[in-house]
Amino acid sequence: MGQTNGNQRKRVLLLTTPASYRTPAFLAAAERLGLEAIQAVDLPEPLAREWNVPLGVDFTRPERAAEQVAAFVREQPVDAILPLDDSATVLAALACARVGLPHNAPDAALAARDKYLMREMLAAGGVAVPHFQRFSAASDPAHIARQVNYPCVVKPTILSGSRGVIRADDPDQFVAAFARTRDILASEGWAPEAASILVEEFLPGFEVALEGLLTENGLQVLALFDKPDPLDGPFFEETIYVTPSRLPEETQAAIAETTARGAAALGLRQGPIHAELRINERGPWIIEMAGRSIGGLCSTVLEFGTGYKLEDLILLQAVGERLPEPDMAAPAVGVMMIPIPASGILRRVDGVEEASKVPGITGVEITARLNHPIAALPEGASYLGFIFARAETPVAVEAALREAHGRLRIRITPEIRLRPIAAPAR
Ligand code: ADP
Repeated sequence: MGQTNGNQRKRVLLLTTPASYRTPAFLAAAERLGLEAIQAVDLPEPLAREWNVPLGVDFTRPERAAEQVAAFVREQPVDAILPLDDSATVLAALACARVGLPHNAPDAALAARDKYLMREMLAAGGVAVPHFQRFSAASDPAHIARQVNYPCVVKPTILSGSRGVIRADDPDQFVAAFARTRDILASEGWAPEAASILVEEFLPGFEVALEGLLTENGLQVLALFDKPDPLDGPFFEETIYVTPSRLPEETQAAIAETTARGAAALGLRQGPIHAELRINERGPWIIEMAGRSIGGLCSTVLEFGTGYKLEDLILLQAVGERLPEPDMAAPAVGVMMIPIPASGILRRVDGVEEASKVPGITGVEITARLNHPIAALPEGASYLGFIFARAETPVAVEAALREAHGRLRIRITPEIRLRPIAAPAR
């Protein structure tokens, strides 16, 4: 595996950041596959030299960084350049274009960062999208409230992880949602005049997430996850993901077909894709999609063929190797992103051991830090942790995740904010 004609190991350049939680998984995968992995890290050059990183580039200046990466690759050729995080996707596309490696359109990466641009590009590519309108975050919501249809969804164009995504069923809820989303943007440093808010038709329906690889033969679906919890708002917390999907074959085929058309509309041509879709009687609708693999620790539950991980498949495809045959007898797996039930200070999480003992549970990880502030949606940007499960059937996986979650006892106390004491009025 992983050998070229000249008995030389195939080489892959990983574009990564010092904080990326994906790097260890990809380095381990490269090692398993006998590939040589070189890292280009988002670091100032002097620091890269000091830390012995072969290539330090500034991801926020993609044109210049692409030139540096291309110069490096011309000296020391590689078989693939792979971005590990969203922050490197534009750079990867530009660098690959310079050295003649297959690549996605740089615009696809821009669409993944801007929900309005994504809707525009999907619509232009003939893919069904909900009715959508963009407004300046500085607009008067009372004025807009009269122009929109209900129910609708208010969302910032640039945040992720469902932050600031709020359903509104009437003008009063709309005014409150718009103001709340504007405040969330402000807390991230966005002045209202500089930020946009997207208002979309609410799409009822069942939600799925698709992990796939784009190859020269089209889209290969690696995993289709059902999200069995109803996601009807007002906030949209991701919780349970279970694969394989329990949806009928023809619905799954329609989901794959819509995803492939969405990828083409965005200029995604090769490598991993992650898409979220909603399915209702009008068919599958793309909520969002990006040229990267699934986030969080979710990929750790996936296994393909005999013992291949998601990162193995991504690397094999990137360097042009054959992918293993899917294992039809693979068990069902699932993950629960443990929602943060309230904002405040996280004091204790009890019951982790009891939760771990539920049959089918393969891991419980609390990732939030004790005695630190945590925020629930729509303000929050993280989870309390993850529960992983593996069982014979998707039904058993879902039941195990719910049972384990029920055994956790989470204690959050209100955050006490100290205000400066005003001088007494005279
Ligand atoms: P983010 O990138 O912040 O996760 P999304 O646009 O993917 O934002 O929205 C987050 C979640 O909100 C989706 O997974 C979905 O459950 C819900 N959602 C977003 N847009 C709509 C919509 N138009 N109709 C119904 N639900 C939606």
